[in-house]
Amino acid sequence: MGRKERAQASWTEDAQEQPQDVCVLCGREGEMTDHHLIPKSQGRRQGVKLGQIPTVKMCAACQGFLSKTFSNAELANELNTVEAILAREEVQKFVKWVQKQPLSRGVRVH
Ligand SMILES: [Zn+2]
Repeated sequence: MGRKERAQASWTEDAQEQPQDVCVLCGREGEMTDHHLIPKSQGRRQGVKLGQIPTVKMCAACQGFLSKTFSNAELANELNTVEAILAREEVQKFVKWVQKQPLSRGVRVH
């Protein structure tokens, strides 16, 4: 067979113990993904190792919005902190809107 076993045992245990993650941008609770504050391709260019790039919890909608709205270079150089991202007017408008959307409903930003 040669099928590789995937490590699946631990996450269900963690999920029961951990409180829901909160999106750093819109503040909604639920399943979040790790957002790299410096896009991985940009980090590589700047000699930053993947493991050294700070990550924050972010929902798919906010993440999609950022990647659609800003270039990787902008994200890496200007928007590499949550504060900087939230200071942008476009982000504030989006967050205000997305906060009214249920997390379960997939928000299409593409
Ligand atoms: Zn969000």
